[in-house]
Amino acid sequence: MSIRNAKTASYLHAGHCSRCDVPFVDEAIVTKDRVIWKIIGDLGLAAVQWAPFCEPCAGPDACAAAKREYVCGGCGILMRGPEAWKARTCSKRCEQRVRRAARRAMTQRVCSCCGNSFIGRADAKFCGSACRQKSYRHQHKRFPMVTGSTEKHL
Ligand SMILES: [Zn+2]
Ligand SMILES: [Zn+2]
Ligand SMILES: [Zn+2]
Repeated sequence: MSIRNAKTASYLHAGHCSRCDVPFVDEAIVTKDRVIWKIIGDLGLAAVQWAPFCEPCAGPDACAAAKREYVCGGCGILMRGPEAWKARTCSKRCEQRVRRAARRAMTQRVCSCCGNSFIGRADAKFCGSACRQKSYRHQHKRFPMVTGSTEKHL
């Protein structure tokens, strides 16, 4: 396998066949195979893992075993895979995208400064900038700092 092929065969390439790098059109077949998942220098680290392939690359056996349908939460392509397959995304990139989106999603939170409930990001700690600054100053009061708009905010 050449280096170029190793790169394009990467599982990290979202929306593309993990072997031949052709973009998925209708659906991807998810099966367990040896895929390159990391490139270090000129070498690709290969591991046997679940990855999406185009139908010809996956082969007839994998296609027959792929009975369940999944939609990638990151890019929306349709994937078919066996029951044992746990991931719900076509690639690491889509997995990260889904995780980030979940963190951004608005939800009911309780301010860790004043205790009021508010609607905010899943990782939001404070109801507003006033509480955030109050808490920030509290945490950093032993290290006097210039307060002002030049400070880095969220
Ligand atoms: Zn392929
Ligand atoms: Zn995807
Ligand atoms: Zn608050």
